[in-house]
Amino acid sequence: MADADYFAVDDLLTEDERAVRETVRRFVDEEYLPTAREHFRAGTFPTELTPRLAALGCFGPTVPTEYGGAGLNSIAYGLMTQELERGDSGLRSFASVQSSLVMYPILTFGSETQKRFWLPRLARGEAIGCFGLTEPDFGSNPGGMLTRARRDGDGFVLNGTKRWITNGSIADVTVLWAKVPDPEAGAGVETIRGFLVEKERAGFSRPLMHGKWSLRASITSELILEDCWIPAENLLPKSGGLKSPLLCLTQARYGIAWGAIGAALACYECALDYARSRTVFSRPIAGYQLVQAKLVQMLVEITKAQLLAWRLGRLKDEGRMRHEQVSLAKMNNVSQALAIARTARDILGANGITDEYPVIRHMMNLETVNTYEGTEDIHRLTIGRDITGLGAFE
Ligand SMILES: Cc1cc2nc3c(=O)[nH]c(=O)nc-3n(C[C@H](O)[C@H](O)[C@H](O)COP(=O)(O)OP(=O)(O)OC[C@H]3O[C@@H](n4cnc5c(N)ncnc54)[C@H](O)[C@@H]3O)c2cc1C
Repeated sequence: MADADYFAVDDLLTEDERAVRETVRRFVDEEYLPTAREHFRAGTFPTELTPRLAALGCFGPTVPTEYGGAGLNSIAYGLMTQELERGDSGLRSFASVQSSLVMYPILTFGSETQKRFWLPRLARGEAIGCFGLTEPDFGSNPGGMLTRARRDGDGFVLNGTKRWITNGSIADVTVLWAKVPDPEAGAGVETIRGFLVEKERAGFSRPLMHGKWSLRASITSELILEDCWIPAENLLPKSGGLKSPLLCLTQARYGIAWGAIGAALACYECALDYARSRTVFSRPIAGYQLVQAKLVQMLVEITKAQLLAWRLGRLKDEGRMRHEQVSLAKMNNVSQALAIARTARDILGANGITDEYPVIRHMMNLETVNTYEGTEDIHRLTIGRDITGLGAFE
């Protein structure tokens, strides 16, 4: 049986999809995991792996090949994120941001010139991108953002602060979301538009954030814009309204629904191995009913998550995926992965709190994954609104 594949989900995959998974798995095992602990301890990301990730097609896997993407289907992309997150949520975040939150908006809302310039560079890993939406006081409700873009001659002047931005300090280009006047909608009315801000722009600083105990092997930054001027051609011309950044988040959340399975598998497999070999009282702890019940529950939730993700992927490729379905898969798969990580930590006893094993690292990471890209609560409210027709957000 291919790892924890209790319902033979492997049989539902094509040969190409399995090949992508195996290739990324090998890369993670051989090139990422040997230094994962050191990077987590130091709070650094192994940027030297960027060319390898690019060569594996991890940047823009579903972007058409004419723009430098890998042209893969959504299941292959999902399996890729699963394997990256089996390594570390920080590794998966690095690739998710580049693909879903930078290449996707440029592909979807960008001009032909922007696409031809940025997408091949981003796909080759020659440029790194970040996505600036969240602000210090606006996370779950990004529509309230304070960042503003004001027309100034043949460009825009940007002012505002973004916080919690993955890859911010190392990004060559930021997909930045700001409010601008929308004269067509009436005097004083504003809308949200996307802008490309290059790293060297005057009035743009990107300090690193410190003190994280989750997603430590990932760069997280603030973005500060103080009268930062950008040319008019940096506006993403087809962006408009809050739905534009939300469309990007739907793409990223799709990948996260798969990625969380990778973290859960790493924790489950570690706990199963440990339980088989750790003898307490008279036998290996795997032989005690209470421990078996925990392992079984982990496997049940992994199996359900695998089936959800697979079905979601097929719906996506058929063009039938709804964002509420993505909310359900992200909410369920991440919260269950977090529960699995906590249970695995418990099964490892005291050893579970050391980074000699990957479990506590995954457990701490999943706290972030449960919060970013829409908190568990926000996804619950999204599904609640979908089934009742009544919004309960405000
Ligand atoms: C490591 C890390 C990396 C990140 N990377 C990025 C990035 O690259 N780009 C980016 O733009 N953002 C990024 N984020 C930000 C992330 O998306 C936000 O943290 C997230 O949206 C939650 O916002 P918040 O932290 O302001 O929490 P809040 O919105 O303040 O929520 C706090 C709590 O209140 C709950 N809550 C909020 N509203 C309601 C409601 N109506 N009803 C019930 N409960 C509610 C929430 O569920 C949560 O439990 C990142 C965050 C982290 C931690």
